[in-house]
Amino acid sequence: MPTPPTFDDVRAAAERIRGHAHRTPVLTSRRIDAATGARLFFKCENFQRMGAFKFRGAFNALSRFDEDQRRSGVVTYSSGNHAQGIALAANILGIPATILMPDDAPESKVAATLGYGASVVRFDRYTEDREEIGRALAADKGLTLVPPYDHPDIIAGQGTATMELLEQAGELDVLFVCLGGGGLLSGAALAARALSPSCRVVGVEPEAGDDGVRSLRTGSIVHIDTPVTIADGAQTQHLGVLPFEIIRRDVDEIVTASDAELVAAMRVFASTMKIVVEPTGCLAFAAVRRLAPELAGQRVGVIVSGGNVDLDRFAALVAG
Ligand SMILES: *Cc1c(COP(=O)(O)O)cnc(C)c1O
Repeated sequence: MPTPPTFDDVRAAAERIRGHAHRTPVLTSRRIDAATGARLFFKCENFQRMGAFKFRGAFNALSRFDEDQRRSGVVTYSSGNHAQGIALAANILGIPATILMPDDAPESKVAATLGYGASVVRFDRYTEDREEIGRALAADKGLTLVPPYDHPDIIAGQGTATMELLEQAGELDVLFVCLGGGGLLSGAALAARALSPSCRVVGVEPEAGDDGVRSLRTGSIVHIDTPVTIADGAQTQHLGVLPFEIIRRDVDEIVTASDAELVAAMRVFASTMKIVVEPTGCLAFAAVRRLAPELAGQRVGVIVSGGNVDLDRFAALVAG
């Protein structure tokens, strides 16, 4: 396993993605501030290219391929957004991409991945081991495996979202970041420690899969069964090794949000802020709403991680 990245790697990633990734807006809402009693700064990665922050890490990682790796191609596994991030970045850089996607991945994510010109191989996420299939494909065809979170270049790329947020909003008292395998949260922690040293960093994972909470408590990575939750981007069974090294050092706390709280947050995003946020992207805001009494008067960063949700599913969820 390589060593975890540092903030210098986040800065280098920011240089690499400049001109390719969007510098997404930071939105604020007086109504939501009034309702929560805090000052909230929403970093809107639902407006990122391909609809989620994953493009940042993917483009950073693929930019670092040598000639041989570029010619042979990249392989990865993902429930959706990492797949699209790799597919789009590979398309831009002229690298062939093979993506392993679960049979039950949202159709919009499969279609988008195919639309970026990648090859898609389906698998059953409840019975097959995607990491094993990915490693086998990499070995057979000479492809380079770029996993969704346990990779220094992915972590450094994801960290640029928080680096930008702190440049745009200034220092924060606390930052809420959604948590699956930990690429986004660990990158965020590197940026926050460097640019806003007294900022508390809080990870938020689905209530159905609280492996992160338990990992932080026990000091070693806890493995769970695939959690059943509407937050399909955070249905991970365990944290990555590299993310966990950073998280245990630089993250203050991990909390959870229930599916009902995600739906409530999604409705506020749509009705008050007029933005479409996918269930996983609602994790951070859902936790902020629950913990609002403790956040009174504070400057709070909220990473809105993505907006890729089928329209029919979105309509059904917000109709509740
Ligand atoms: C991947 C993803 C996450 C979780 O990111 P990790 O780096 O796996 O922790 C959160 N939100 C969205 C929208 C995602 O696509």
